[in-house]
Amino acid sequence: MDHETGHQPRIPAAGHHRDVNGGWLRPAVFGAMDGLVSNFALMTGVVGGAVSNSTVVLTGLAGLAAGACSMAAGEYTSVASQRELVQAEIEAERLELRRNPHGELAELAQLYVERGVDPGLAHEVARQLSADPEQTLEIHAREELGVDPNDLPSPWVAAASSFVCFAVGALLPLLPYLLGATSLVPALLVAAVGLFTCGAVVARVTARTWWYSGVRQLLLGGAAAGVTYLLGALIGGQV
Ligand SMILES: [Zn+2]
Repeated sequence: MDHETGHQPRIPAAGHHRDVNGGWLRPAVFGAMDGLVSNFALMTGVVGGAVSNSTVVLTGLAGLAAGACSMAAGEYTSVASQRELVQAEIEAERLELRRNPHGELAELAQLYVERGVDPGLAHEVARQLSADPEQTLEIHAREELGVDPNDLPSPWVAAASSFVCFAVGALLPLLPYLLGATSLVPALLVAAVGLFTCGAVVARVTARTWWYSGVRQLLLGGAAAGVTYLLGALIGGQV
């Protein structure tokens, strides 16, 4: 075997490159779509209840702020708890490596054997890769937990990006009103274009065609707004 390259581990980081290339696009578009659908539906709901334009604007602004904060808080909690779980598992692995280095070496060698490396060579590769304790931990974390301990997702970044994405989507149906529109029609058009665009962009990361994905999103968003409009119209007369 080549002892020179034996010290340069090339661990296949499965899924890592996919995250870098398109990983941010999908959550960003879904966040924006979420903001667009929920705020548009909220606004059509109060329009259905025949309220004044200033109430529609106030509702839209409140919906934007409430939704963006709620999304950010939810995303923070979700990523932070996932991160804590992974860190606890990494610490457990660190402890195990310190307590039972031979067993862990055999475990690593076994992983290579399972991939078709013959036992003698697998043990030698595992032994050389395990020379440095930090690198050993990194390899075990990647092989057993599927994570890079030096590259765990940040809950603050996740929270900030979902806040921004939701706010951008939620702003779309509100924009015509802020610019002086006095009926729902301009907001309806902007929301329709936004829904179709979001759907078409999502198609970039799925196997569907852009127009199919766009139309589907348009129909789903339209249905949500239609339901809240009807509810608003039904309840608006009673309250
Ligand atoms: Zn291990």
